[in-house]
Amino acid sequence: MTTYETIIGLEVHTELQTDSKIFCSCSTRFGQQPNTQCCPVCLGLPGALPVLNRQVAELALRLCLATDCSITPVTRFDRKNYFYPDLPKAYQISQLHEPIGRNGQLCLKDFPERVVRIHEIHMEEDAGKLTHDPWSDQSLVDYNRCGVPLLEIVSEPDLRSAEEALDYLATLRKLLMFLGVSDCRMEQGSLRADVNVSVRKTGTQALGTRTEMKNMNSFKAIGRAIIHESQRQIDLLNEGGMILQETRRWDENKEMSFAMRSKENAQDYRYFPDPDLPPVKLDKAWIDRVRQNMPERPEQKQSRYQHEWRLSAYEAEQLTDEPFLASLLEQTIACGANPADVSSWILGEWLQACRSGNCDASDLSVQPESLAKLLEMIRNNVITRTTARSVFTYMLDHQIDPESYVREHGLAMVNDLDDLKQMVASVLEASEQSVKDYLAGKEKAKTYLIGQVMRKSRGKANPAHVNKLVEELLEQHRQP
Ligand SMILES: [Zn+2]
Repeated sequence: MTTYETIIGLEVHTELQTDSKIFCSCSTRFGQQPNTQCCPVCLGLPGALPVLNRQVAELALRLCLATDCSITPVTRFDRKNYFYPDLPKAYQISQLHEPIGRNGQLCLKDFPERVVRIHEIHMEEDAGKLTHDPWSDQSLVDYNRCGVPLLEIVSEPDLRSAEEALDYLATLRKLLMFLGVSDCRMEQGSLRADVNVSVRKTGTQALGTRTEMKNMNSFKAIGRAIIHESQRQIDLLNEGGMILQETRRWDENKEMSFAMRSKENAQDYRYFPDPDLPPVKLDKAWIDRVRQNMPERPEQKQSRYQHEWRLSAYEAEQLTDEPFLASLLEQTIACGANPADVSSWILGEWLQACRSGNCDASDLSVQPESLAKLLEMIRNNVITRTTARSVFTYMLDHQIDPESYVREHGLAMVNDLDDLKQMVASVLEASEQSVKDYLAGKEKAKTYLIGQVMRKSRGKANPAHVNKLVEELLEQHRQP
């Protein structure tokens, strides 16, 4: 039987984290009232002239440098002409001839042998947003997104499976977030991918005809669409059919893709250099400045956490999963907390609170300074971890100083041996069966008894003392 190889290339669009749009000073803030963030420039009114937002070029440069692209010394903008109601100018300002970066690369995390070549990175503007209202049978248009800066990152067809494609996307997404280029909120459309898929007989070199699925914004949908599309092409070829170069739409609910239109070529868009925008000279001084101000990349942070703070590889990886966690870790340590304590608290209690509250890590409002104080109290045996947990839960909803809170509510750890001894004695007296069990050799009974003492003290008893006292008093129960 003939076997096939799947070939995948991705064109990723990411919205940049700038305050204003690419060619005007309108705000880029998401979720505002429709058509409140536009001006003559982004609406394409006659006579309005675009001016490049310098920050867009700087963020693009950051990504180019981080992906080892060669930077185009003089980069230019071109007009891509087409009509669509979400594009009031009837052309999109993009880059065809001289994109800002070319010939880069990205290494995958789970497929270390696979280096994905980046064909080019270019800057462009986003279009508006159309919403079709099925009730009134009308289409509504919101121009707020018109002119929001985008980077398009075009890979070579170097990916060979859905898993590799998702690894590439996850790696790129993390890089974009840590570089401060984009917040990559897929649910808000700030990271979307066009997926090109073709198949060829295993062992052959020539690329097969490819199809494209546009504007996909969930990892799950992208993974499924790739698997489905490659199988559709293989089935078609096995039946003696032919693949047509076309754009297909993936329907996530039906788990099927549908032909939309035959694929257009660059010529169809009548690209030409935008006469309103001067070429942008990217001189060495500018590039050097961007290089010097490059934020630390996730893998650099990871290795620093391991070497400087002695965190395990697992911890370092988890803490660099998103910029918020890394910054929380760094800031809390900067407030004087012990790195191991902070790491264990973030990966334990902090993420647990997010899971129970069904929210993002960055939604919790506890400040690094307060977290540092709380952790120092555990370290200095002022409170137990159990107490710290309940103080932390309170801190999620209240702005408090944890130290005064502990003082005012009498939550300090009980260290007094006489008090603890009394507590242990009364627990043993009330738990005759467990004492017998322990004396009969059941070690578990001791754990239970310790738990009872901790409970009686409402989590405040010094656990080390309790442990020792329970052992001592149990021994006294043995028959001589
Ligand atoms: Zn505007």
